[in-house]
Amino acid sequence: MSSSEEKKAQVFDKSKVTVIFVLGGPGAGKGTQCANLVNDLGFCHLSAGDLLRAEQNREGSEYGEMIRTYIKEGQIVPMEVTIKLLENAMNAALAEGLPGEGWADGKGRFLIDGFPRKMDQAQKFDNEVCECSLVLFFTTTEEEMLKRLLKRGETSGREDDNEESIKKRFRVYKEQTMPVIEHYTKLHKAATIDATATIEEVHQKAKAVVEEVFSGQVNRNITA
Ligand code: UDP
Ligand code: MG
Repeated sequence: MSSSEEKKAQVFDKSKVTVIFVLGGPGAGKGTQCANLVNDLGFCHLSAGDLLRAEQNREGSEYGEMIRTYIKEGQIVPMEVTIKLLENAMNAALAEGLPGEGWADGKGRFLIDGFPRKMDQAQKFDNEVCECSLVLFFTTTEEEMLKRLLKRGETSGREDDNEESIKKRFRVYKEQTMPVIEHYTKLHKAATIDATATIEEVHQKAKAVVEEVFSGQVNRNITA
């Protein structure tokens, strides 16, 4: 048996399906920047948090209450649930297809926002679902993130956009998500982008980094 056969096959073929993880603290601007990148490069944008909230609200879901509790406490939902939701959403997008050359002949490109937030998720997804090509890492100060989240909380209706939940999310981010970013930095897959500037400035930097992935220049750490 060759070594490639010994390894369990991944769900998606990396030569066709490009996965970019988007990380950064709560309120760093991941969702906003993903929405902009979708238009530039024809991505399917999947937010792990949005998928979890949709599952939480889905009638008949056996996970609804569990998800609600984890989100309110800023804790990471057990990875099997989140990974299954992502996998289902990826399959649906690939079955339907999107416009543009990035989706021709069974190909697809995904921005996976707010995931993986914990090492176990990162390893399982890379090994069993689809190995990521790049990690966009948006960084800014906790003070700035708190300000943005409290502002968002005025209208978001999110149960975790309050000061108490936000503090818990910051702690989980430092303890569990920072090791993920260090892991990808060691693999030379992390692109660190200062997200303190204006939305448009950050967008231009992120766009330039992502374009490099599709021109074949992966595997290097970038700071923009
Ligand atoms: N969450 C999770 N696993 C994930 C992504 C999100 O459990 O892989 C939960 C977690 O409780 C997190 C919440 O969903 O605090 C909100 O995540 P989201 O990405 O929506 O928040 P953001 O970072 O955008 O403020
Ligand atoms: Mg978000």
